[in-house]
Amino acid sequence: MLLALPVAVGPQDPAEEAVERVELNGVLYEVPPPWRSNRITEAADPTALAKAPGDLTGEFEIYVTPETRDAVVAMAAAARDDGIALQVDSGFRSYGFQKRLLEGLLKTGRPFLNAVRWTAPPGYSEHITGRAVDFVPSDAEFKDVPAYQWLKERGADFCFTESYPLGNAGGFDWEPWHWRYEDCDE
Ligand SMILES: [Zn+2]
Repeated sequence: MLLALPVAVGPQDPAEEAVERVELNGVLYEVPPPWRSNRITEAADPTALAKAPGDLTGEFEIYVTPETRDAVVAMAAAARDDGIALQVDSGFRSYGFQKRLLEGLLKTGRPFLNAVRWTAPPGYSEHITGRAVDFVPSDAEFKDVPAYQWLKERGADFCFTESYPLGNAGGFDWEPWHWRYEDCDE
């Protein structure tokens, strides 16, 4: 069952200004919490991205900002020295890619509110910045792999932060596999 939230647009209704919507498969959905009011305006320039090296990504072709690429390469080398293999299976995702990803989930019959728990609506994913990466396995099991403990101890040394940690103040579901790079010159 597809849960389409009916959208009634009241003319000049001030409350409407706070409503955020996305169009998926031709249907308008209201963006629910925790995404609502967390639209990401900083999109990467797709022509200025760098390809992550194949030894980190396997068969995937993954692009991130050049600074993110350099940082993740350095971090993976340090992890390797500690016997940890960091693998990445997602980096930059355009608005259109994120839209198709979510539309694909809806087409399998997933209700919208279920699908958007872990797949951000287009325009709301940190992946659009080119500075977010997903480590493998990019699912709840990541919390149990040694790479996760390693990232928690050492990620900050390479300017990587867990975006949606357990019990985060924003109310986002825990995504232990999802980390973002932020310039952190000391
Ligand atoms: Zn992610």
